[in-house]
Amino acid sequence: MKLALFDDYRLGVVTDGKIVDVTSALPQHDTGLGASFWVRMCQDFSELRPRIEEAARQGAAQPLDQGHQVRLRAPVLNPSKVIAAASNYADHVQEMSGPARTGWQLQFDTFLKAPSAIVGPNSTISLPEVGDREIHHEGELALVIGKQGKNIPEDRALDHVFGYTILVDVTVRGDGDRSRRKSYDGFCPIGPWVVTADEVGDPHALHINLRINGEQRQDVNSGEMLTKIPAIIAFASGVMTLFPGDVITTGSPAGVGKIVDGDTMEVEIEKIGRMTINVAGPSSLP
Ligand code: MN
Repeated sequence: MKLALFDDYRLGVVTDGKIVDVTSALPQHDTGLGASFWVRMCQDFSELRPRIEEAARQGAAQPLDQGHQVRLRAPVLNPSKVIAAASNYADHVQEMSGPARTGWQLQFDTFLKAPSAIVGPNSTISLPEVGDREIHHEGELALVIGKQGKNIPEDRALDHVFGYTILVDVTVRGDGDRSRRKSYDGFCPIGPWVVTADEVGDPHALHINLRINGEQRQDVNSGEMLTKIPAIIAFASGVMTLFPGDVITTGSPAGVGKIVDGDTMEVEIEKIGRMTINVAGPSSLP
C-alpha cells in the first residue's frame, strides 16, 4: 500500500496516480508541532490496515498528476530522528577518496540529519550561501520504522520496518561535521509516499535513479549496498532506541554532484515511485 500525507496532513492511499483521503480510518488526527497520528499509525498499521483499506475503497479518488489540486507533503511526520548511513556503496566510497578524506570518513557509520530539514515532494529548496563549497545531491532508498526496538538482531530487523520511501541526502561537500553539513533547512526531501514493506518485498533488488534536468547522474541497484538494511538497523539500534516513524536512509550510490539554482532533481526508485525537487538560490549577495 502507498501511504501519503497531503494538504493539511490528511492521510491518503495512492493507487494508479490517484489519491483517496482515508483520514477517517484513523482513531485520531492532529496537526502542528505535537502531531502524533502518523507515528501511531506507523506503530499500529497492521491493526488499522483493514479500516484504511475500506476507506480507500469507499472514498473518492483525486488525480495526483494535476498537482495543483493535491499538495503532497513529506510522508513522515515528527520523526524523533533521521539516521543516515555513510559510505555504503563501493563506487561512492571510491569517488569520495582523496587527500581531503581521512580513513574514518570512508568507513561505514551512521550520522544524524536534523528532522527540521525535511521537505516534501515538489518542494523548492533554497540553497544556503556556502562560499566556494559545493552542495551535492545524494539520492537514497530510505525506510520508516514501524515497531520500536533497541539492540535489534539482524534476523529480526526487517520486522521493524513499516515501509520504504525516497530521500535526498543534500550535503555541503567538504570537511566539518556531517550532521551540520547535511542539516540545513530543506536538505532532507522525502517522498512522494511510503510504500509498505509487504508491497516492496526484497529491499535489496530496487533500481535507484537520480536525474538532474533530465540527465542521469546516479544509477544503481540497492543490492549493491555494502552494509545491508538488517545490519544498518542492528547497528543503529545498538546505539539508540528506534521509535515508530523514525527514518533511516541507506547511503548514496556513486555519481554525486553539484546542484545549483534552477536545477530540477528527479529521483526514482523501483516499486516506490518518483520524486521531483526544484533548487533555488542562494540569492546573490548585495
Ligand atoms: Mn548520504
